[in-house]
Amino acid sequence: MLAVLRRYLKLEPADLDNARPADWQLSVFRIMVLSGLLLVLVVIIHSSWTAWQLGAYHIIALTAGFYLALLALLRWSERSVRASAVGFLLLVFAAGTSILLFNKDFSYGKLGIVFLYALPTIALFFLPLRWMFALIAFNCLPFTFLLFNQPLPQLTNFSITLPATNAYLHGLIFLFFNLCMPLAAARIIRTLQRHSARWQQAHKELQQSHDFYEELFEHNGEATLLVSSNGRVVKANTRARKLLCMDSETNQNLHQLLQPEQPNKDACFWLAQDLPCIARHQPQRHLQLKHMIKTRQQHHVLQLQDVTNLHQLQQALSDRQQQEALWQHYDRLTCLPKGSHLREQADQLLQRQPKAMYLCLIIRLCHIKTLNQQFGYEFGSQLLALFAQQFRQRLQPDALFGRLRGVKFGLLLTVESQEATALLEAIRLQLPEQLQLGNQTVSLRYQIGYCLAEGQLAAEELLERCEIALEQAHQPDSVVPFAPELAAELEQEYYLVNALQEAIRQRALQLFLQPKVDGDRRIRGFEALCRWQHQGQWIAPDKFVALALQHGFIKELSALVLELAIGILDDWQQQQLDYPIAINLAGPELLDDQFFAGLLSQSAYYPWLTRLLQLELTETHFAVQQHALHVRLKALSQYGFSIAIDDFGTGHASLSQLVEMPADTLKIDRRFVAAIPHHKSQVKVLHTTLQLARALNLVTVAEGVETEVQHKFLARLGFPLLQGYLFGKPAPADSWLETLHQQQTVQSQLSPISVADLYGPAAMRARLTQTAPTP
Ligand code: C2E
Ligand code: CA
Ligand code: CA
Repeated sequence: MLAVLRRYLKLEPADLDNARPADWQLSVFRIMVLSGLLLVLVVIIHSSWTAWQLGAYHIIALTAGFYLALLALLRWSERSVRASAVGFLLLVFAAGTSILLFNKDFSYGKLGIVFLYALPTIALFFLPLRWMFALIAFNCLPFTFLLFNQPLPQLTNFSITLPATNAYLHGLIFLFFNLCMPLAAARIIRTLQRHSARWQQAHKELQQSHDFYEELFEHNGEATLLVSSNGRVVKANTRARKLLCMDSETNQNLHQLLQPEQPNKDACFWLAQDLPCIARHQPQRHLQLKHMIKTRQQHHVLQLQDVTNLHQLQQALSDRQQQEALWQHYDRLTCLPKGSHLREQADQLLQRQPKAMYLCLIIRLCHIKTLNQQFGYEFGSQLLALFAQQFRQRLQPDALFGRLRGVKFGLLLTVESQEATALLEAIRLQLPEQLQLGNQTVSLRYQIGYCLAEGQLAAEELLERCEIALEQAHQPDSVVPFAPELAAELEQEYYLVNALQEAIRQRALQLFLQPKVDGDRRIRGFEALCRWQHQGQWIAPDKFVALALQHGFIKELSALVLELAIGILDDWQQQQLDYPIAINLAGPELLDDQFFAGLLSQSAYYPWLTRLLQLELTETHFAVQQHALHVRLKALSQYGFSIAIDDFGTGHASLSQLVEMPADTLKIDRRFVAAIPHHKSQVKVLHTTLQLARALNLVTVAEGVETEVQHKFLARLGFPLLQGYLFGKPAPADSWLETLHQQQTVQSQLSPISVADLYGPAAMRARLTQTAPTP
């Protein structure tokens, strides 16, 4: 029953929570009217009973009508609370005025007015506010009546006064104001309270959620901004404020804070993804703007990334790339313009002043290769850098100076023709003679090729002329001018070089043999001398050997000579002719792994090779200084090959260098032999040399013996072996066969002269176990 009543009155928790006016108004209306109806029932019944007894049937009709109207309104409330409320207002108004008008006693009538006072409150519950104010205003009228305390004139005789009217009216007022109205108000307040509690809870949750989002916004690790659709900053977290130097969060527009790095015509530039920007208040700060999302309120969440470091890095990278581009033109080691750039610079100068006279030079540093081998490549590089730096400082600022390649440097200066020689000399004197690198002092030697020309020529041609001149600089400290004949010579030389290379490929070179004889003119061996006939002309071996050396194919030439010499020796072996042949080696070929290995493998194939093949190396060669070559010669010597120091007396090898050379033979240059017997001092040298050779256990060979006098003299001096035109000119191997066979039959017991023959086997062993010098 109670549940039904609660449901009808809409007092269920869900109803109480429901703050929709139409719902709680229905509940309030029902509470008010139903409670009124139930409580008033006693008054109605009692008054109707009294009226019945008194025969005042109109009162019964009135109260019953009133009661039924209330019931009807209650029923009607189902459909429209408002309409029912209006009806209720009218009913209360009617009840109030009836009490006022139809009671003879004015003190009862006044109680009717009290009912009218309830109208604004009832209107407040159910109708728009203006109704309440209207009714408040209206109530001023009855209030005035009460103020004046004047009863209304009785218009009719109609009266509703009963003996217990006083009790009825007070009962009604009591019930209405003390119960119905409070219950109705309580219903409203209850909903309001519950609603308020829920609202507070929701507010609390909202606050928590807000705090959460606030936290997220503030500490999401990125500088974050919330901006309105027109770019006004609605919110910015601390990071963002710091990046943008914002004093206050809001009321600033992104346009005032950020500027796209690239001109951006779009007013809403922040809608772009990953836009590089600059902070307006800190132009050195580079920011990457990211549009994250658009909110339901049409706001935009943006993020800023500080990419200043990245930008600086990129900048550094691009600077570096520019630097790299710049370095393309400059040599990193010497910081001088490279050849190509020097040519460009020179061409510009030549075009600017075509009438001027120019001195162009190529300076080549000598012996850098040797220094590289002696002290290491890095040392050589540092030396070049130091040379470049010192020489550049000594040159006049407008001189064009650059590194062409390797050890070649180009120099171009304007000059007055009459001053050219003096200028050249001045330049030569400016070249550093010595350089100090760490604790090493290195003496420098130079070769210079130069030309003097007017500005009509291109830089390329000037340098080419210098190259041609330089080709002729064979000795250190040579300063060679360009001469037009040189160009022709050079052309001839190139032609010859090509022809020689082809001849080597075709194996078109020959070996002539020149005998080495003992004091009794018996042949004890041969020297193999290479011969090349080109276009019907014999080319001097000095010349073509030098060409092969200069153009880097001495290895091929020597390989051919070796092959030809082995061929002859092999042939002789078949004929039981046991004569050694010496081949000439220039030096570099021994440093070639392929040639060196070939020589050793041949000796494995021909067991007699180490005994019969001798190697002649000129004293002037740097073998005496070069450690690597020294090591190889020592290996060959230990392997059993005989090694001769050729042209002794032409070079500047020191005594200690000679002692350490792994050689067993010393060939005295023919210059000394030619001096016999007239040049006393030269003869003295011969004498001393022989003593030296003996002390070092070396076999000696005197070269270039042309006369009997020389022969006798040398034989008397004690030279065991002699070589020269007197005993035989170089001739093809076959031309010696007959002589050799004859000699073989006469003196079959002869064996090649060796150190062992001369000084005994102990001396030989002593020489062979000598250690290599330290570099
Ligand atoms: P070299 O090693 O000193 O050879 C001896 C040179 O003296 C030869 O000159 C020879 O013909 C010459 N000669 C010999 N006896 C006399 C004489 O009594 N009087 C005069 N005036 N000269 C005499 P050639 O054949 O013209 O060779 C010159 C140089 O060329 C050689 O000097 C040698 O250094 C080089 N050479 C020759 N063939 C070869 C080779 O196959 N390889 C290498 N690397 N160099 C070679
Ligand atoms: Ca020789
Ligand atoms: Ca010689």
